[in-house]
Order: sequence, then C-alpha cells, then structure tokens
Amino acid sequence: MTSFSRNTVNELKEVVKGGVVLPDDARYNEVRQIWNATIDKHPAIIMQCAEAADVPRALHFARRHGLEVSVRGAGHNIAGNAVCEGGIMIDLSNMTQVRVEAAKKIAYVEPGARLADVDKATQQHGLATPLGINSTTGVAGLTLGGGFGWLTRQHGMTVDNLLAVDLVTADGRELRASEQENADLFWAIRGAGGNFGIVTGFEYRLHPVGPEITAGLLVFPIAQAKQVLQQYRDYMDKAPEALNIWVVMRKAPPLPFLPEEVHGKEVAVLAVFYAGAPADAERLIAPLRDFGTPYGEHIGVQPYVEWQQAFDPLLTPGARNYWKSHNFTVLKDDALDIMIDYTHRLPGPQCEIFIGMIGGAANRVAPGAMAYGHRDARFVLNVHARWDDIAQDKTCIAWAREFFKASAPYASAGVYINFMTEEEGDRVKAAYGPNYERLVQLKRQYDPDNLFHLNQNIRP
Ligand SMILES: Cc1cc2nc3c(=O)[nH]c(=O)nc-3n(C[C@H](O)[C@H](O)[C@H](O)COP(=O)(O)OP(=O)(O)OC[C@H]3O[C@@H](n4cnc5c(N)ncnc54)[C@H](O)[C@@H]3O)c2cc1C
Repeated sequence: MTSFSRNTVNELKEVVKGGVVLPDDARYNEVRQIWNATIDKHPAIIMQCAEAADVPRALHFARRHGLEVSVRGAGHNIAGNAVCEGGIMIDLSNMTQVRVEAAKKIAYVEPGARLADVDKATQQHGLATPLGINSTTGVAGLTLGGGFGWLTRQHGMTVDNLLAVDLVTADGRELRASEQENADLFWAIRGAGGNFGIVTGFEYRLHPVGPEITAGLLVFPIAQAKQVLQQYRDYMDKAPEALNIWVVMRKAPPLPFLPEEVHGKEVAVLAVFYAGAPADAERLIAPLRDFGTPYGEHIGVQPYVEWQQAFDPLLTPGARNYWKSHNFTVLKDDALDIMIDYTHRLPGPQCEIFIGMIGGAANRVAPGAMAYGHRDARFVLNVHARWDDIAQDKTCIAWAREFFKASAPYASAGVYINFMTEEEGDRVKAAYGPNYERLVQLKRQYDPDNLFHLNQNIRP
C-alpha cells in the first residue's frame, strides 16, 4: 500500500456510503482499469461512490490530504484522465440509476450511467435523448464534452438537451446549474464540464423516438469509395434530419451478410439510421444502393436500443487505442482521396476511419450559447487506431498521426474535446475557440487552484 496509513483511510471509510478500494485490495486492478488499455495508472485510493453525498466527502478528504483528484464516469475516455497516478480516483461508475418522468419528457440520470442504462429506461416510454453510438460509453463524460450520435441531426447535441445538473464545486459547494440557476456555470459545463466540478445528477430533455427505427449497414468495395463518399456527401445535403448516415472505412469484419471472400478486405461502409416512420425508410435508403455496387447490406426495422448496441462488439474494452480527430464543415474531394489512401494503409484489422455526421439541429445553435461551440461542424473525423499487441504501438500510432497531418489542411478549426488523447493539451484552446477566454474567467472563479485538472484542462 502507499504512504496512507489504515487510520487515515478509515477516516474516509467512516463517512462514506460507498466502498474504498486500495492497492492491496484483490479488486484493485480490475477497478482501476478503463476502456483504453494503453492507460495504466495506479491511484493511491479509489473511492467508489454509492450516492451523491459521497462526492463532497471524497473531495473534502482529497483536499485535506493534498491528493490529486481524478473523476471517473464509465471510464471510456481515450485520454484516460479518469484515472490518476498516486492520487484519489473518485469513481462514480456504480451510480447508474435513471428515472424518467414520461409526461414531462425528462430523464434524471446518475453520473455513472452508461448510454445503455439511459436508452433502456427512456425507451420504455418511447422516448430518447441524443447520445453516442456505443452503449457502454458513460453518459457523464459524453455529455460534459458535447455528445453526439444518431439523433443529433434531428435533436441536436447531448448538451443541447441538457436541462440542469447537480454538481459539487472544487470548494465543496453543492450547486444546481441550469439556464435559471448558476447560469454561468451551466454555460461552462455544457462542453467543458470536467473542469468546473463533479456532476452528481443530469437532467435531459427527451423526444419521441421509435421504439422501432430503421437502421443497418451498406458495405461497398474500397475501389468504389470515392464515388460512394461523393454521392453520400451530396445526398445528405438534402436528406431529412431524421436520416443520419455515418461512414466507416476499415477491413471488413466477418459479418454474416458478407460473402466470406470479402472478410478482411478494405471496405467503405455506410451506417444508416432513420428515426422516421419505417414506411418512409425504403424510399430514402433505396438511392444509397446506387452509389456503387454493394458487397452486401443488412438494413431493417429494429428496436432503437438494439441499434444503439450494434457497434459494441467492435468497441469492446481492453484493446489498445489511439485516436486523432478533426471537425469538417465540408468533405472536399481531396480530403476524400486522403481518407481512401490511408484506408489502403490500415495497420491492422481493428483500425478504422470513422466519419460521424452532426449538422442539422446541432448547427442551429449559436456558437456562444454554451462552451461547446462547433456549430459549423457537419462531420467529425475519428482516426481510430486500435490493436492488441504492445509491439504494434509504434506502427499504429504513426499511421494515425500521419493521416491526421495529411487531412489537417481540409479540416475546420475546432476539435471535439471528447476525441482528444492525453498528449493534445495544446489543442484545448482550439477546441473552445472564441469561448475559451470566458472559460478561463469562469475557471478562475470556480476552481482557481485547478483542483480539477485531470481533463482537457482550462488553466485558471
Ligand atoms: C468506443 C467509444 C465510442 C464513442 N462514441 C462516441 C459517440 O458516438 N459520440 C460522442 O459524443 N462521444 C463518443 N465517445 C467519446 C466519449 O464521449 C468520451 O470518451 C467520454 O468522455 C466518455 O465518458 P465516460 O464517462 O465514459 O468517461 P470517463 O473516462 O469516465 O470520464 C472522462 C472525463 O470526463 C470527466 N467526468 C466524468 N464524469 C464526470 C462527472 N460526473 N463530473 C465531472 N466530470 C466528469 C472527467 O474529466 C473524466 O476524466 C466514444 C468513446 C468511445 C471509447
């Protein structure tokens, strides 16, 4: 165990409802593990909160003993700031309750909930809020950085649907923030959340969705990728906002609807989602097939919650991951050429180039309305290097960095904070653009000592 005596740790144990996990605990290695296996940090203390009131208790303990603080939701963030080396990890991942008031179309969500927890509870009422595309992702980190997914063109970013939060500030105050209460703090946490406090409860606006939607994959040979992507780009300019299509370029996984000889070949995949009436879906999806000659497709009517889990098997925890990301307002032909070129050079079967589509309602909010300000971003490119063997680190990381550099001239100025690795602190200013200076002022007000610095940090 570290320098902490049993008596010191008992001080904490006596006041909290949740559990305290120490390095000599049998569960320690399992509990400190996060989604990205390249992160291997060893907190001195892990405080597994069981209720909101545990958070100020843990913070008080941290301040008293001068401990570095990290905050963990579901531990999905690529940068790995949820874990610290030698400090206290305030782990919220056991607080997963979701309560829905269907008549008001509001969900109340605890900070350790995964997307699956929220979707399951809201869909019981035929409701949903825009979240991401991998159901094991944490709602907390996703929301506090912006949040987008299949519903974003129609209903905006996750932060556009956030109504209020309860949070604990660096000095231990328990506050509520909304448009009406502590509005400046609410402005800041919608995009720069982790910098301003620990959120213990989220309140979201819900929309009628499904429960059945139309979705699936359309897989084209990489040789047709340019024509497919050009037509995709032009088609989406006029497509209704209930239709969202993302692009994935990778080596084809062994999907049962693809001929065996295609498995392992480079492909361009259109991942299609339509939230409107299933009867209208075929009319909107049919033209996509003529973008090229697909190897195969698997599209159909299915429960929204099922589609929300469709990518989980490709995004399991425990692999090594390294990401680079840009925002794009337009996808120029030259940029498409570079994406295709780097698909030909994929360093491994799990690596992929992902183009998520935002646009629509997310673009109709003023850039200064909240800390998340990329209201011109229509596409988010994620260069996703993923591998298992540590010996592959250099090759995979080099591929992602080179592609990132080659595509940079075509990108817009901003970057999505939730896709940044730990080494990209110099991009934080760009990530907030004109909103950055106001965030610095608010950071000075709410966290002058930078207690919450294990994040994409805004320095006071
Ligand atoms: C496989 C995968 C798929 C993804 N898909 C999408 C997607 O479709 N759309 C999208 O928008 N994003 C997506 N993301 C990115 C995701 O939004 C971020 O990784 C997000 O940070 C995950 O949240 P978490 O709570 O699991 O993270 P954690 O790693 O637990 O936390 C990340 C950071 O958030 C802060 N934080 C967490 N909880 C709190 C809290 N309660 N109060 C204050 N600060 C807190 C801390 O600074 C912490 O370091 C994806 C990530 C992965 C790994």
